Amino acid sequence: MTTTDHEQSVIAAAPKGLSIDGEWRAARSGRTFAVEDPATGHTLAEVADGDALDALDAMDAAARSQATWAAHPPRGRGEILRRAYELLTERADDLALLMTMEMGKSLADSRAEIVYAAEFFRWFSEESVRINGRYTPEPNGRGHLLVLRQPVGPCLFITPWNFPMAMGARKIAPAIAAGCTMIVKPAALTPLSMTALAAILAEAGLPAGVCNVVTSTSAGATVAGILDDPRLRKLSFTGSTEVGRQLIAAASSQILRVSMELGGNAPFVVFEDADLDAAIDGAVVAKMRNVGQACTAANRFLVHESLAEQFGSGLAARLGAMRMGRATDPSVEVGPLIDARARAKVDELVDDAQRHGARVLIGGAPIDGPGHFVAPTVLMDVALDARVLREEIFGPVAPITRFVNDDDAIHAANDTAFGLVAYVFTRDLDRALRVCERIETGMIGLNQGLVSNPAAPFGGVKHSGFGREGGPEGIHEYLETKYVAIHTNAV
Ligand code: NAP
Repeated sequence: MTTTDHEQSVIAAAPKGLSIDGEWRAARSGRTFAVEDPATGHTLAEVADGDALDALDAMDAAARSQATWAAHPPRGRGEILRRAYELLTERADDLALLMTMEMGKSLADSRAEIVYAAEFFRWFSEESVRINGRYTPEPNGRGHLLVLRQPVGPCLFITPWNFPMAMGARKIAPAIAAGCTMIVKPAALTPLSMTALAAILAEAGLPAGVCNVVTSTSAGATVAGILDDPRLRKLSFTGSTEVGRQLIAAASSQILRVSMELGGNAPFVVFEDADLDAAIDGAVVAKMRNVGQACTAANRFLVHESLAEQFGSGLAARLGAMRMGRATDPSVEVGPLIDARARAKVDELVDDAQRHGARVLIGGAPIDGPGHFVAPTVLMDVALDARVLREEIFGPVAPITRFVNDDDAIHAANDTAFGLVAYVFTRDLDRALRVCERIETGMIGLNQGLVSNPAAPFGGVKHSGFGREGGPEGIHEYLETKYVAIHTNAV
């Protein structure tokens, strides 16, 4: 049940079928599944429940289209991407409302995600015409080296629910730019933002078969067949480390090119010379974007002992002032978590931290339904063995610990299997550079709480994965290098 006519019209406009070879169709089995509003638990729409046979149809379409699409002029590919950017920008408000309804985050966060996703289409519209090779003389002077960059081939993209459009856009836009075709499998919790994106790509002029979308409630079984299909050449996955590990193993059968954007456990380090107000502003962004359900969310606040109390009380005041509710209301800043399981896990972590002696500065008490709400929570002096410091929280909970010197802070920051992002606040340039070199992550926010940027290489190290999305590096994930040794008699 939805509350307004406008909300209903936005849901009605989103495609509910599978997008295969340029057509919207039902699942072969005829089955559908319900998409719920996490703020109310009510069903928003029924969506086609694809399976392995539908995925194979999508694989056929992607394989059939690959050669033609690779031969499509780069400028033409760029123009389609540019048009997609324009359509996403024009329709950002309705797309944000759709995203908020299926995923729960605030309208401001959803709008920011649409803008972020759109920017990938703009960035890669500009990159499609800059796929360069090289032609160089051999060092011994007896020949030449020709280096070509060619599309990898058909790709499989598997994306999570927390950024239902942007995590797809970061893969789809560079793949289109490079001349690859693709099959996209969005998360069952949030399929509508992806089907809406597929419709926009078709409207922007993307030929049939280039981008196929298969929605499904049986992710593993649905993609298993195409992971074994020799026509598939690349897998790019964004999601949990646990599923990523299984997919890396599955990708070995066809020796697929693989990119993995996995979980995080970001440290947020505040040194004694930091600008405290800037650190608190950065903490609010790094913690509360997406209600903490981001791989980049600050998970562990490590604060110099001289600032810890002030930082804790300042952050608690800011989080305590945020308005919670169903986020289709533009004044709401804190929506629900995605589902009951997510809420139960966050409640458990908070409870465990308290049992380990953490002091609750704000929040901390479970909230009854309907909706999967967790109050913004700040925990002071959390014990190092508390689960909240070791696991990805994925909720609006900020655990704070103190440190005494730089070595301790860096050691604590690196004391995790993950390595996606870290946040560092200091006004001392020497310290900043020293710490950035020693922290084991793929990205660092220096005096800022947000790193995501289409012009920058997003990605992690250690258990946070490999491969980069965005920036000039982003398109390389979709290109193969071919070298031709040229015999020349005269130079
Ligand atoms: P998830 O459970 O790993 O699911 C991600 C995607 O994989 C979904 O589409 C899911 O489908 C699918 N999937 C699940 N099991 C599968 C299997 N056996 N074979 C193939 N596909 C399978 O992760 P999530 O809960 O949606 O997302 C949260 C996680 O993503 C967090 O750990 C977060 O840190 C990480 N993340 C990382 C980044 C990054 O850039 N590094 C960005 C965003 C999120 P269903 O949902 O339909 O089951």
